[in-house]
Amino acid sequence: MRAEFQFHPAERPLPDDEREKILADPGFGRHFTDHMASATWTPDAGWHDLRVAALAPVTLHPAAAVLHYAQEIFEGVKAFRHADGSVWLFRPELNARRFAHSARRLALPVLDEELFVESVTALVRADRSWVPPYDGERSLYVRPYMFGSEAFLGVRPAAEVRYGVIASPAAAYFAAGSGGVTLWVSENYTRAARGGTGAAKCGGNYASSLAAQVEAAEHGCDQVLYLSGDEHRHLEESGTMNLFLVTADREVVTPCLGTILDGVTRTSVLDLAVEHGLKAVERQVGIDELRAGCADGSIVEMFAAGTAAVITPIVGFKGNGYEQVVADGRPGAATLDIRRHIVDIQYGRAADTHNWLRRV
Ligand code: PMP
Repeated sequence: MRAEFQFHPAERPLPDDEREKILADPGFGRHFTDHMASATWTPDAGWHDLRVAALAPVTLHPAAAVLHYAQEIFEGVKAFRHADGSVWLFRPELNARRFAHSARRLALPVLDEELFVESVTALVRADRSWVPPYDGERSLYVRPYMFGSEAFLGVRPAAEVRYGVIASPAAAYFAAGSGGVTLWVSENYTRAARGGTGAAKCGGNYASSLAAQVEAAEHGCDQVLYLSGDEHRHLEESGTMNLFLVTADREVVTPCLGTILDGVTRTSVLDLAVEHGLKAVERQVGIDELRAGCADGSIVEMFAAGTAAVITPIVGFKGNGYEQVVADGRPGAATLDIRRHIVDIQYGRAADTHNWLRRV
């Protein structure tokens, strides 16, 4: 691999005992490692100043494009420590490909996919001591991002762009852990439309999801279930996860790509389903079909899949004037089997027959 990200070690890394205290109970997204990767792009010089150095605040001109027009994309990748102490990334090349796709959609310069993987690897290598000890629960969540930093108030693609990678030790994303979450079926908000940015991982998608997330919380639900904005009211995805349901005749069904994010976990679940005696199906599912299927027992499990929360059972959902429990309101067997399988691969306890892990 090319070594294009020059390493400048932090002068004052967090003392070992303080880091270890954080790693014992990291929460999610609250603590950050000692270093960050960064690079700058301009039309003339291309990508330059590639480095891994001490984590530091970013200084921006108040007219920077990202602050006004949200020209920004990001990714989420996890690093796992195995029992022998080695550290591994899970399918980072899929994040690299999706990052390039998001960049094209947001008119940002494409970062070479190899460079993306190198930046993530270089940061995790520099902050290796921040990858929590092996326990099958904790990991290091790595967050690459790119934004328009040019100071210019005209609406056009920025002519100066910054790339960065930060990392944050992570425990289970949902406090409820794998006990299951409930979803609020939003009628007031949609996440994406044809021709929009639903398939890109851009900050704006998440900014516009916050009001729906607040609405979900007001109804006592953990996350939003988004429907297509057309009259079909198809299931799309949840706030930060792809949706799956399991039918009584052992199909695992997930909405087709198009206006949703092409999740790394989603792809992995579809690949693993057959090994669990399930048929993987990508098709549209209407909210009425979901409600009827849960009511008559033809849908027996539901779950959501994403890097942060891995596989999270969905035990019920609510919408305007109705509430539906999925099966008996407890995580389903297929959900837990697939979850265990992915987690076991990530932590090196199951054979990586698909060659998904990349050693750091
Ligand atoms: N949908 C959305 C909207 C997301 O933000 C995420 C998290 N990246 C996912 C799905 C799941 O994608 P992945 O499995 O790659 O994390």
